[in-house]
Parts: sequence; structure tokens; C-alpha cells
Amino acid sequence: MAHTRLSATLSDWLDTHAEAIDAGTHDPSAIVPTLGAAGLFRLGVPGAGDSSRTGDAILAIAEVARHSLAAAFVYWSQRTFIEYLLQSPNATLRERLLPGLLTGATAGATGLSNAMKFLCGIEALQITAREQDGRWRLDGRMPWVTNLRPQGFHVAGAVTTPRGGSAIVALPHDAPGLSRSADLDLIALQSSNTAALALTDVDVPPEWLIHENAAIYLPHVRPAFVGLQCGLALGLAQRALEEAQASSGPRHALQAPLAQASHGLATLREQLIEGVHDGRYRTAPTALFELRISLAELAAQAVQLELRAHGGAAYLNGKRPGFARRWREAAFVPIVTPSVVQLQTEIAKRRAVDGVDAACARRAVPRAKPGVRGTKVVQ
Ligand SMILES: Cc1cc2nc3c(=O)[nH]c(=O)nc-3n(C[C@H](O)[C@H](O)[C@H](O)COP(=O)(O)OP(=O)(O)OC[C@H]3O[C@@H](n4cnc5c(N)ncnc54)[C@H](O)[C@@H]3O)c2cc1C
Repeated sequence: MAHTRLSATLSDWLDTHAEAIDAGTHDPSAIVPTLGAAGLFRLGVPGAGDSSRTGDAILAIAEVARHSLAAAFVYWSQRTFIEYLLQSPNATLRERLLPGLLTGATAGATGLSNAMKFLCGIEALQITAREQDGRWRLDGRMPWVTNLRPQGFHVAGAVTTPRGGSAIVALPHDAPGLSRSADLDLIALQSSNTAALALTDVDVPPEWLIHENAAIYLPHVRPAFVGLQCGLALGLAQRALEEAQASSGPRHALQAPLAQASHGLATLREQLIEGVHDGRYRTAPTALFELRISLAELAAQAVQLELRAHGGAAYLNGKRPGFARRWREAAFVPIVTPSVVQLQTEIAKRRAVDGVDAACARRAVPRAKPGVRGTKVVQ
């Protein structure tokens, strides 16, 4: 399937409000219930609707991103939190939270950028658990979290456990000791309810544990985390290329690069969906990292082509609606964790390890078995 169609009502709603959602003048709390009412959070959730394929959720995020990257990122946050529950052994937590998340009555937020960086050995976990009367008490912070609806949310975070391991927990918005900052002052995506969270002596009962071992759990959810994120670049690139095509005449010098970019986009989309469905990214994450980098580059190239196609009109306020927003939205794609810089570094590290493997094989020198090493997972 190349596209997931949105209803005309939802497409119109997104088009009508995309600028305000970007500028922060639209009520952010409307996004999750609107996407929920359209059934989007059910996509790719076994037993929740017509589709049980994660690829359908990726394509739906792409479709929303064609209209508004901010709304698509809110969708990603909600759907990724749902994915954490789907892949959690804690069935009670899943059964308790899922109904509200699927309808959009409750917001789900993911504070796991820190954990994804931790997984790659880039930074330490920013939340620490102490044990008190058999329960965990958490201290720390999550500097960036999207979809923190002031009306209520659940958020996933990674913590260093009292025994020095790492675990993933969910927290409700009203947990005593959890405080939300005002929305961060962003250059785009402003109605995305993006804020920081501070944790001071937050009591976490065992029922809120998503997984007791982050080093095992994170590599498992990462293909969905990154795959769903790829929907953002797919949709933004698609829309920018459509706008560029509409603006450039048939004999225009842009025809060749536009055709090349459109072909590249279709190929990457196909590879992504196939790979997510056949599970190859679980054992070969580098291929997914490369795909995410290629999509980020393609999104940047697509808005550049849109600019060139519009010419000076793109620079006049109101002459080419949506262009300036897409230009700012495109700046988000390479920096969201895992960032392009992070992925490039990770790929280089893995290649160096593979190089060592190859050299060892040539010299018949045994190498340490891949596995969990200290705080860092090497797959
Ligand atoms: C609008 C918005 C919404 C966001 N929403 C969320 C959210 O919902 N949840 C969430 O968890 N996070 C969220 N983030 C955070 C985001 O995913 C990044 O983690 C955040 O931008 C932090 O990256 P940084 O540039 O501050 O990283 P820095 O640590 O300052 O690094 C700068 C750059 O270098 C790279 N880098 C740093 N150290 C290394 C290293 N050792 N090796 C290789 N590369 C390295 C980084 O990836 C980055 O590209 C959001 C960010 C934005 C802008």
C-alpha cells in the first residue's frame, strides 16, 4: 500500500489549522481527540481495528505530515506510547491504559530520546530510582517531551534502577512530585504541547513498570520507534514535491530532479514498509538508520526544490501558503532523536566493529560475543 487515505473532513481540518498549529495559536488539546475520532491511533494495533500492520500507522503519520508536521508529531508521540504498551509484558497496564489512548481521550507521551541516546552510549539516563519501602522513588528530568496535554497525559521514561540497571516506566500526569514546565518556546510545531518534566521523589508502584530491563526492551521497540518517525519525513517530502511539481512548468529544468526525488521517495517508502513488516530491522538496525538518514536528506531536498519551483513568490508572505511552515518543519526532521548526526556516528561505530570482525575472521582471532556490555548494547 503506498498511501493511507484520510477522510476529507480530517484533511480539511488539518489544512485549515496547520498554520495555527505551527504558530501556537491553535488549541493544542484538540489534536489528539481529533486524530483519535478518525480512528488513527487504532492503526497497526492488533484487535483494535481493521489494520494490524505497523506500516499502516507509518503511512497514516505520513499522510497527516503532508498537511501538518506538528499534528503528525503529536500522532507519533501517541502511537509510539501505544507501541510501548503493546510490546510490554505488563498486560494489566496495557489493558488499563489502551482504551483511552486509542480513542484519544488520554494523551500518551514518550520521553525516551534520552533512553535511545543511552542505548547508543551517547548519554547517561537522566532519571534515577531509589528504593524505599519496596517501591521506587524517582528523581530527574525529561527536558523535551511532546503531547503533554495539560488536561492529562501518561508519559514513558527510562530510569536507572536501584541496582544499577535500567528500566522503562510509565507515569501519570498527576503523580505527586511530577511537574510540567510551560510549553517550550519553539520556532515551529508550537501547538504540540512540548514541555519539560521535573521529577522530585516521585513514587512509582510496580504496576507502572513497562519493562524491567531497558537494554533488552529498547532494541526491540526501536524499529517501530524509528519506523513510525520515518512517516514524518515521508509525508513532508511528499507534500513539498507535490507543491514543487504544481509550480514548475512541464519544460522546467526542475523536472529531472523532481522525477528523481519522487522516485527516490517511492523506493524508500517501499523499503521501509517491507522491512518493518518482515522484521529485518530487529536484527539489522543499520539498514533502518540508513533509511532514516536518506529520508531526512530527501525531505530537506524536497523543500529546497519547492523553494526553487516557487522562486521569489516563496519569499513573499502569503503568496505560497504553507511553504514557510514546511521550511521550518523540515528543520525538525534531522534533529529529532535519533538525530542524523547520532545515526551517522552509530553507523560508523558499527562499521568499525564489523571491520574488526572481518579482520579477526581473516586472522582467525576470536572476538567477544555481541551482547550487553556495561550500559551499552551492541547488537
Ligand atoms: C519540537 C521538539 C519536540 C521534541 N519532543 C520530544 C519528545 O516528545 N520526547 C523526547 O524524548 N524528546 C523530544 N525532543 C528531543 C529531541 O528528540 C532531541 O533529543 C533533542 O532535540 C536533544 O537533542 P540535542 O540537539 O539537544 O542533543 P545534543 O546532545 O545537544 O547533541 C547535539 C547533536 O549532536 C548529536 N550528538 C550528541 N552527542 C553525540 C555523540 N556522542 N555521538 C553522536 N552524536 C551525538 C545529537 O544527536 C544532536 O544531533 C524534542 C525536540 C524538539 C525540538
